[in-house]
Amino acid sequence: MDNHHIIIGDGLSAAEFATSRQYTAGDTLTIIGPDVQDIGRGIAYAKAPSEVPWRFAYLLNSPSRSVDTDFAHWMKENWELLESTMSKRTPDWLSAATPYSSVGDIASLNAPREIYGDFLHAKTLKAMEQLSISGVSVRRVQSRVDKIQPTETALSVITADGQQFHAQTVDVATGGPENQRIEGDESDRSFPQLFGNEHRIAELLDKGGDIVCIGASAAMLDCLRFCQSIQSESNVQFTAISPKGTLFEPLRPSPNFSPTKFNLNGTFNTAEEFLLAIKTLHKQALDAGASFYETRVGMRELFAYRSLNEFVPKLSEARKVTRPLFTHFEGGTRDSIDDFHRLMGSGNTRIVAGRVERIENRKKVSSVVFTNAMQQRQSLSASVVVNCAGPGSQNRFDPLTRRMLKDQWISVCEHSGGIIVGENGNTTIPGVRYLGPAVTSIGEKVEQVPLYDASRLRQAVQRFNHLHNCD
Ligand SMILES: Cc1cc2nc3c(=O)[nH]c(=O)nc-3n(C[C@H](O)[C@H](O)[C@H](O)COP(=O)(O)OP(=O)(O)OC[C@H]3O[C@@H](n4cnc5c(N)ncnc54)[C@H](O)[C@@H]3O)c2cc1C
Repeated sequence: MDNHHIIIGDGLSAAEFATSRQYTAGDTLTIIGPDVQDIGRGIAYAKAPSEVPWRFAYLLNSPSRSVDTDFAHWMKENWELLESTMSKRTPDWLSAATPYSSVGDIASLNAPREIYGDFLHAKTLKAMEQLSISGVSVRRVQSRVDKIQPTETALSVITADGQQFHAQTVDVATGGPENQRIEGDESDRSFPQLFGNEHRIAELLDKGGDIVCIGASAAMLDCLRFCQSIQSESNVQFTAISPKGTLFEPLRPSPNFSPTKFNLNGTFNTAEEFLLAIKTLHKQALDAGASFYETRVGMRELFAYRSLNEFVPKLSEARKVTRPLFTHFEGGTRDSIDDFHRLMGSGNTRIVAGRVERIENRKKVSSVVFTNAMQQRQSLSASVVVNCAGPGSQNRFDPLTRRMLKDQWISVCEHSGGIIVGENGNTTIPGVRYLGPAVTSIGEKVEQVPLYDASRLRQAVQRFNHLHNCD
């Protein structure tokens, strides 16, 4: 029988769902998403308009070898093209790359995310072309899905513009939760997120002015690179405010890159015991001279062939590991963190510890009201305020995910706050699978950290489609 398979979403996960599945000639594949012509990019690897100064400013958060080894090889093979694309750009990516590129270590570079998007998009188109050649009917529908309705014989998929499709199987890959909202974060001078608001922020900073970013996240580091691209560095007046008032550790490969081997054995009764054991080994590795990046890659490799459940057999305890382990090993883009520190030296950037309550907007200024470490209320005023606080615990999922949660097709984990799906991404509705960056449990297995990670998302989909046997 010919099958109809539908994929909802147009990012990296949707592309992997589409291209790693086994099809038979005669099958139909329909991919539905608002930017489906740009399949593979999603929000993270989007294409900026060609003329804007911030084009190529946003970088991958880890060295390309950790994101996608095929991409790291592609970068090496296409280094001349990369050099010409990135030459004379501000910030100066090529200069920051020199310690690695001069010795041919291209896999250690944090590539511009748009270029990774180019790679993913081209690869996906090629794979879709192959599917067409092998007799699969492939179509892309530019729309947003409102609803999936199980019927007696099939799954009915209904889009916001009233189209209806029937399929035997549906994969949902509609992305992670949006930024948490903060009172007052949407006005003439305050923005609920950077992406999509760049033109307006650039206009506001055009004649000088300062900017406050709420959060010390990867999006804050993007915001700094955005400012560097539109202002001369001596004009940048950039403040980040976060509860801890600290920056991420930079993910900096050492010249002889060698991931830490975590010698962790046995089982642990509680999350606390497991976390203590791994943090102790982590500290020992750092004290012995390993770079933070090497310990992070080592942590990932520890779970390559063993699941978290093997170390922490009690499910509820394993689920308590996910968030703290994620935070403990969270690191950021080397280029941007180095720039933040360098610009701190010249008084152009600073980081403040504070818990933000709200933003008050007046005619020419926005003020961030926060409580400092001494529990005193303070405020910081700036020409522009950008919310980079990350999803937090508000769980602002897209409407389709929210509907699936409400109907209990998938659920939220009470311990990690992430999403729980069944074996192979199955939901409680036969034929419907789900995967996104917020997933923390798949079937009986608990992910050691959530899937906010291109490589782990792709591996998870490959496992679902039986192309990949280990994590
Ligand atoms: C700004 C940003 C930077 C990141 N940087 C990195 C990085 O450097 N390295 C890394 O490993 N990971 C990074 N990540 C993590 C990232 O989430 C994953 O790597 C990956 O891109 C997620 O892909 P996805 O397809 O699951 O989700 P998304 O890329 O969010 O794609 C989901 C798509 O589904 C569409 N959609 C939503 N609802 C519907 C609907 N109802 N119907 C149809 N379509 C719908 C959305 O429009 C969206 O385009 C980043 C994430 C963000 C947001």
